[in-house]
Amino acid sequence: MIRLRFAPSPTGSMHVGGVRTALFNWLYARKYNGKFILRIEDTDIERSTKESENEIINSLKWCGLTWDEGPDINGDYGPYRQSERLEIYDKYINYLIENNKAYYAVYDKDNNEIYTSSEYPEKFKDESIVVKFRVDKKGNTKFVDLLKGEITFRNDLLEDFIIKRSNGIPVYNFTVVIDDHFMEITHVIRGEDHISNTQKQIMLYEALGWTPPKFMHIPLILGNDRKPLSKRHGGTSVEYFRKEGILKEALMNYLALLGWTIEDEIFNYKSKVGSFTPEKLSNKGVIFDYEKLEWICGKHLRMKNIEILMDEYIDWLNYIEDIDLKEKVLSDKKYSLNVLSICREKVNTLKQLKDFSYNFFIENFDYEEKFIEKFLKKEWSEELIKIAKEKFEELEDYTVENVEKVIRNLAELKIASKKNTFQTIRGVVLGKLVTPGLFESISVLGKEKTISRFKKAEV
Ligand code: GLU
Repeated sequence: MIRLRFAPSPTGSMHVGGVRTALFNWLYARKYNGKFILRIEDTDIERSTKESENEIINSLKWCGLTWDEGPDINGDYGPYRQSERLEIYDKYINYLIENNKAYYAVYDKDNNEIYTSSEYPEKFKDESIVVKFRVDKKGNTKFVDLLKGEITFRNDLLEDFIIKRSNGIPVYNFTVVIDDHFMEITHVIRGEDHISNTQKQIMLYEALGWTPPKFMHIPLILGNDRKPLSKRHGGTSVEYFRKEGILKEALMNYLALLGWTIEDEIFNYKSKVGSFTPEKLSNKGVIFDYEKLEWICGKHLRMKNIEILMDEYIDWLNYIEDIDLKEKVLSDKKYSLNVLSICREKVNTLKQLKDFSYNFFIENFDYEEKFIEKFLKKEWSEELIKIAKEKFEELEDYTVENVEKVIRNLAELKIASKKNTFQTIRGVVLGKLVTPGLFESISVLGKEKTISRFKKAEV
């Protein structure tokens, strides 16, 4: 049975690079009918927090990645949080010490030297005692990376390294070996920043007499200066993109494209499980392109069933805590569906959809400055607005065609030029000069809202 895991450290937000790693592990497990496991690596007690763990779990769930075993659902290989596995680790730390493969080390102040021993150094019990792994300096450590081929490290360049800190808690390079072994992980897919750790981990597997899993180290996501993508480049967390109104399928679509050679550009990653093969993963560093992500998001936004888009829009308003607008959108679903369906043609994200459609939902919107200056303040505007209001009052059936006729007839009256007529009406009904198609917009607004907006412009 193939078993893969994603093993985040809960020391911050869920970075999109981590999600991409999780995605490739997930795809691999799903493709080969294996298991995908979530393990929380929280042995860095100073930096690990419960909030971060929750954020990571929520973000992964939002992205649609599901795991078969994990701290929230358990499984046969638990516990799935390293802080709950300390006894297991201790057993193997002791095993290594007993077999002369690890030793206690402590700084001896009096003699200004490092004191080492295979017995617990009782006399230094008030000092910082660590356990170090004894590196066999002879020869090389090798492994075959599934993406990069054979990688060889010289052992003489590696110092003995700490496996248990003075606070009694073992370090990542040790815990990861114990956990991957006992959780029967067959394949480790992770960022290439972990390549150098692999040397230490393989040494530990050897010292414990265990077979290491297969490793695949994938290139990191880079910013436009080719340095690993970080806050310096812009938002990097799932929460950030979620707040920005990026759809989850767009984020996942884009992350899949970053490093995976796939024929299509726009897809739902869940439908691509069948075509996933590790050979199609690329070994080149990939640059995160915020604009491309937004473009992909626009494609998904327009592709989506409109009712589903509306539900997601409402969830998103809830997420960004815009409860007023959420209530307004919910209060007349048929109207809201019409609004969203004309507005989505011109936007890429939910945030842009909100800005673009906002004035459809509220009556007391402000007029854009440009509209006031260029149109509302002009000498012809009062008359145009008055007559336009009368014509729209006479109109009963606000079909797109009927609305178009009214507006074209108004332009024929030559109170203002055709362009000025159109833009003035646009500004009156929606407060701004860039909106969805004018005829469609007024058709969607309907009689009551249109008239009340003309009245508002009259005063
Ligand atoms: N906890 C490690 C990290 O977040 C996991 C690395 C690994 O997958 O082995 O980077």
